[in-house]
Amino acid sequence: MSAISPVSTSEAIKRLLYLDNGRWIASASPRFGQVFNPSRGRVIAEVPFCTAEEVDKVVRSAAAALGDWSAIPVVERVHVLFKFRQICLDRFDELANLVTREHGKTQPEAKASVQRGIEVIEFACGMPSMIQGTTLANIARNVDSETMRHPVGVCVGITPFNFPFMVPLWMFPVAIACGNTFVLKPSERVPMSANILGEMLIDAGLPPGVFNIVHGDKPCVDALLTHPLVKAISFVGSTSVAQYVYETGTRHGKRVQAAGGAKNHLIVMPDADLKQAAAAVQASAFGCAGERCMAGSVAVPVGDAAQELVGRLTEIGGGMKTGPTDGGASADMGPVITRQHQQRVAGYLDIAAGEGGKVVLDGRKVPASQSEGFFVGPSIVDFVKPEMRLAKEEVFGPVLAVLRVKTVEEAIAIANDSPYGNGASIFTNSGWAARQFKMNFNAGMIGINIGVPAPMAWFPFTGWNKSFFGDLHIQGMESVYFYTQQKTIMTRWFESAMESHHDPVWKSGKPAGG
Ligand code: NAD
Repeated sequence: MSAISPVSTSEAIKRLLYLDNGRWIASASPRFGQVFNPSRGRVIAEVPFCTAEEVDKVVRSAAAALGDWSAIPVVERVHVLFKFRQICLDRFDELANLVTREHGKTQPEAKASVQRGIEVIEFACGMPSMIQGTTLANIARNVDSETMRHPVGVCVGITPFNFPFMVPLWMFPVAIACGNTFVLKPSERVPMSANILGEMLIDAGLPPGVFNIVHGDKPCVDALLTHPLVKAISFVGSTSVAQYVYETGTRHGKRVQAAGGAKNHLIVMPDADLKQAAAAVQASAFGCAGERCMAGSVAVPVGDAAQELVGRLTEIGGGMKTGPTDGGASADMGPVITRQHQQRVAGYLDIAAGEGGKVVLDGRKVPASQSEGFFVGPSIVDFVKPEMRLAKEEVFGPVLAVLRVKTVEEAIAIANDSPYGNGASIFTNSGWAARQFKMNFNAGMIGINIGVPAPMAWFPFTGWNKSFFGDLHIQGMESVYFYTQQKTIMTRWFESAMESHHDPVWKSGKPAGG
């Protein structure tokens, strides 16, 4: 364990520190935010909103560390990641508990998210194989051509609240394995998991300045987006901010990948195994309290599938226990992130009912025993129409819209009308229907009899449309390309120069193809 705690101990409610050049520092900022345990509605920490001067100093630390870090052979750089992975495994339960405490996920959800994050470290540990260039000897007579991959420089990660541990891990293991240095700006709602990541990297032996953390909100993000020493920005969050980050970052000459929000459709065909489909739709809509960019938030049953599907979903959802998830408490679904978000999510049920939807499962009524936490129970609104707000807007809570249609073509047309393009799934036993869907659906991640087709670390997270801004996606080989820049080298050596040296070696045996 690091000797320096990332959390200041001088106050009753702990104010977090930020990480600059391997040192944990108390921000001088007068601005700070509160971090809640959403299961209890209680403040558990304070997070500083770092000043522009502090952000500048951190970026300069990352820039100063770049030369030495990128000069270390990639084979040795990944040794630090191997150690880091082991520390994550050793502290696995503690990490999952923290995710539960500051975010509200159930323990199985928190553990799964920690596991998914560790898999990105495992992917990055293979960097010596992935960062290699290409060579073509004798591309022209006596000319060889090769490419090599170089780090891009100081990289920044700006992350959302919904996966406090996993989403930062989508970014920095790959970035630093490629030889870059990194500044993380985690969500101000879940900053504690980020600090533990910093602590574990120090314990793994990462040199000071290679990984740094600043805390804050918009001004902090703006200071990073416009900083001249920042070369690349990875962002995950809502679509409006993703677009802003992409436009501002690229205008300031940076490479940007920005993943945004979503509205994901789950099409259920009458020939599907409806028991399996209902279980998958339920898990997709209500897992992580619906706070997933890959959550299925619109079920689109085709023809006869509707009646049975809605019946099954109402029964399963109605049987789910919503409640606190911390301190060993068991619940099927935890809280949403803030009181304000709880009200916003519940408000969508009012809106949908007002627009003609039928609320068949109502999560607005929270038992009095849970009134302190930020709970919304599983909710289903049937007979939703494509023009209703619930059909179009990202709710980011456990609210499932059911949009009944007559044909698969109608289902695909409605879903393709969405401005987003993260994920979509079809449930069917027909290979033909699945293939039609796979080929014709305008979203970047497709599930066939899978409710949450979120790619694992070895594949790119390929959002389309307003779910992604940029060229190279997060995860997989695209992330290696994002965090490196290529150099192409053409080489020619002249035989005449050798002759002038009267070298006896080459006179006696010239290599073939030279
Ligand atoms: P958010 O956009 O509010 O915040 C994301 C980050 O941006 C945070 O670090 C925050 O501090 C910062 N930020 C917020 N407002 C800003 C502003 N005006 N200017 C500059 N920076 C700002 O998102 P959130 O509420 O934390 O997360 C939920 C959203 O993230 C959902 O829309 C969800 O779909 C999306 N998400 C997308 C993916 C994906 O891969 N596409 C994955 C996870 C979450």
